[in-house]
Amino acid sequence: MRLVILGGGESGTGAALLAKQKGIEVFISDIGTIKDDYKHLLKAYAIPFEEGHHTIEKIKEADQVIKSPGIPHETAVIQQLHVCRIPVIDEITFAAPYAKGKIIAITGSNGKSTTAHLIYHLLDAAGYHVALAGNMGYSFARCLAKGSYDYYVLELSSFQLESLKNFKPNIACLLNITPDHLNRYNYSLEAYAKAKLNILRNMTPLDHFIYNKSDPITAAYLQAQNILPELHPIDPLSIWNSDGLCYCNVDGTSFSISREQIALPGRHNQYNAIVAITAAALAGVAPTTIYAALPKFHGLSHRLEWCGAPKSIDCYNDSKSTNIASTRAALLSFNQPIIWMAGGVDKGNDYSLLLPILQERVKAIICLGKDNHAIIKAFAPLGLPIQETDNLDNAIHMALSIASPGEVILLSPACASFDLFKNFEDRGNQFKKKINKLIQKYPLPKI
Ligand code: ADP
Repeated sequence: MRLVILGGGESGTGAALLAKQKGIEVFISDIGTIKDDYKHLLKAYAIPFEEGHHTIEKIKEADQVIKSPGIPHETAVIQQLHVCRIPVIDEITFAAPYAKGKIIAITGSNGKSTTAHLIYHLLDAAGYHVALAGNMGYSFARCLAKGSYDYYVLELSSFQLESLKNFKPNIACLLNITPDHLNRYNYSLEAYAKAKLNILRNMTPLDHFIYNKSDPITAAYLQAQNILPELHPIDPLSIWNSDGLCYCNVDGTSFSISREQIALPGRHNQYNAIVAITAAALAGVAPTTIYAALPKFHGLSHRLEWCGAPKSIDCYNDSKSTNIASTRAALLSFNQPIIWMAGGVDKGNDYSLLLPILQERVKAIICLGKDNHAIIKAFAPLGLPIQETDNLDNAIHMALSIASPGEVILLSPACASFDLFKNFEDRGNQFKKKINKLIQKYPLPKI
C-alpha cells in the first residue's frame, strides 16, 4: 500500500513512523515548514517528505491519504483527492487497529487535558502500563510506534474526532459542549457538537460512556439516538451530597470522595476529578489507590495555576482559557474580588454570557490585546473600571495598582494568544515570570 500523509506535525509524523514500522510505503507532504525535530525523525527513519508545497501528482499516487487534524476538509488538495476517489482518513482511524491495549478517550470543549492527565495519574498509581497521548504530547500513532501499553488515555479534539471511522474507545468521557473553534464549523454549534459526539459512533454495550448530565446538547443526542454503551451521567451542578461527599457506584463497587481529597481549584475541576475517578474505577483502579493518588494531583500549568501573592494579592495564570466557558469557570472559582485580565484573538466570543458573573465578582477589567474593542464594548455598560494595553508589563502594573490585599489578579483571557504571544504557554510563562519578579520585589514582611 502507498500511503501519503498531509501535514508533518505531531500527528503526521507519528502516523508516518507507525506506517514505516508496519512496512507501509509512506510519504509526507506539508504545505508549510516541518519542525526540525520532526524532520530529524523522518530522516532517521528514512521517511521521504516534502515541505513548502504539495506535489499533487505524487499525492494522487496514494492508495490512501491521512489528513492531519489541522487541515480543514474544504482545503483544495482534499477536494481534489475526493474527486479522484482516493480515500482520505485521519490519524486516529489509521492507528486504532494497531492498539492492543484498552482505550480511554476524553473529549469536550474544556477540561480534556486536565481530566486525561488525572486518569493517567490514577491508572499509573494502580501499576498499569499506561500511555497518555492524542491532542497533547505524543500523537496516538507515535505512541503505538513506541511500544504497547495496557491502557491508552487519549485526549481527542473535535478536529481529531470529526472524520473518525473505525475507532472505538472502551471508555469515553464527553466533558461538555460549549462554543469553541466555531470558525472551523461555519459558526455552527451543531456541526461542532456533531464532531464531538462522533466519539460514540462505534461503541458497543460492553463499553462505557461518561458524560455531563446537565449538558443539553448531549442529553438531546442521547434521547434521539440508540446509544449502546453503558451510560454514566455526572451532574457538575450537584456533585456533592448534603454531607459534603460524592458517592460513586462504579461497576458494583461503592465508595465516596470528599472535597478535601481533590487538590485542584474550582468547581469545574471537582467535576473533572469525578469524571476521571469514574473512568479509573471502570478500568479497575481500586478505591484505596484512588484515595492515595488523588490528593497528589495538583493540575497542569496555565490552567487556573496559582503563581504567588505579591503584596498579598493572589495571582492566577489561566492562560489556557481561550473561550468563554473556561473563563466563566475561572471567575466562578473565587469568592474574593477579581481583577480580570482578558483579551487576545477573539474566536467569536459572546461576551454577554459573562455579564452576570462580572457584575457579581469582578472589581476591574484589564484588556490585554492588540484589538480590545469587542471586550470594551461588551462590558462598558457595567460601569466597572476598564483599562487597556497591548503590553503585559503594563497590564500587570495596572492590575496591581487596583488590587487590594486579599483580592485576586486573574489572567483568564477567553481568547487565543497569537496577537502578542507565541502561544498560550508563552503568555502564561511570561505572566508567571513577571509575577515572580514582583514576589521578590515585595517580599513578605518579617515576623
Ligand atoms: P482542554 O484540554 O479541553 O483545553 P484544559 O484542561 O487544558 O482543557 O483546560 C483549558 C481551560 O479550561 C483552562 O482554563 C481550565 O481552567 C478550564 N477548564 C478545565 N476544566 C473545565 C470544565 N470542566 N469546564 C469549564 N472549564 C474548564
